[in-house]
Amino acid sequence: MISVIIPVYNEERNIAPLFERLYPILKGVESGAVKKDGGYEVLFIDDGSRDGTAREIEKLRRKDKNVKLLCFSRNFGKSAAMQAGFDEAKGEILILMDGDLQDIPEEIPKFLAAIKNADVVVGWRYYREDRTTKRLASRIFNSLSGFITGLRIHDANCGFKALRKEVAKNLELYGEMHRYLPALAYVKGYKVSEIKIRHAPRLYGRSKYGLSRMWKGFFDLLTVKFLSSFAKRPFHFFGGFGILSFLLGFIIGAWLFAIWLLTGTIGGHTPAAILSMLLLILGLQLISLGLIGEMIAATKARDRVYEIKRRV
Ligand code: UDP
Ligand code: MG
Repeated sequence: MISVIIPVYNEERNIAPLFERLYPILKGVESGAVKKDGGYEVLFIDDGSRDGTAREIEKLRRKDKNVKLLCFSRNFGKSAAMQAGFDEAKGEILILMDGDLQDIPEEIPKFLAAIKNADVVVGWRYYREDRTTKRLASRIFNSLSGFITGLRIHDANCGFKALRKEVAKNLELYGEMHRYLPALAYVKGYKVSEIKIRHAPRLYGRSKYGLSRMWKGFFDLLTVKFLSSFAKRPFHFFGGFGILSFLLGFIIGAWLFAIWLLTGTIGGHTPAAILSMLLLILGLQLISLGLIGEMIAATKARDRVYEIKRRV
């Protein structure tokens, strides 16, 4: 079975036209034209819309029982909506797409073909129908996140994706982490590939994101990197810097002490003395921070440190 997960926030005018195009494709899935075992569900997650979005979806549900709707009590953000979709989805293959018709439903069969050889398939909007600033921001992000996580794909932000159920069940999305879903899956050892897809301009409604997304996205990127490399051993991260800082402070201090012993004064070296103290304190702080981190990690030690991809 295929679960199509669509987070929607104030998209009332997009729902009907979207489903009109989605429906024939999913019927193709059901009849086996696209995929053998057939069957589908469409999970709409209404992320606290204040317009008629939910009403539009309920109309669809009257026509097709495979349409399901989850309504959030308020706007929790796209990551939360996707997480809810993951928790609820019954299918073996999950298709994630935006509800604004910028992702073209006719591309779904391509995703289904590509997921046969991967765990996650990410769309690459090689010709993007968005403003230049947005495209530029996206470019910078893709290079940066490719550099930091090691996953080099063109369009990690693309909302149009396919993934296997196991991957979805093993990911935790919060904040704005949906943007790093491919990177998170990749650092957990799943195979991520990409396919070129077409992209359409937004017809109705407005984009929910401004440039502030860049700033938040940057922090999330650091979190992805930190969690993937150091979450299980925080002392290695903080402790390293801490010891380095402490040693440097100690050496400068010792050198000043020697000067004081020989000449009876540290003369014009006051700035060096301040630096030495600063480094010593910073070093101790980082070391203790690392140890506190270890304590937190230890209490969570019963959490899995491995990922099971398949069971036979
Ligand atoms: N969305 C959501 N919750 C939010 C913001 C956005 O569910 O808080 C949905 C939105 O309705 C759309 C998708 O996420 O289906 C992508 O949003 P948008 O089109 O505004 O992003 P853009 O295409 O501008 O990157
Ligand atoms: Mg959009």
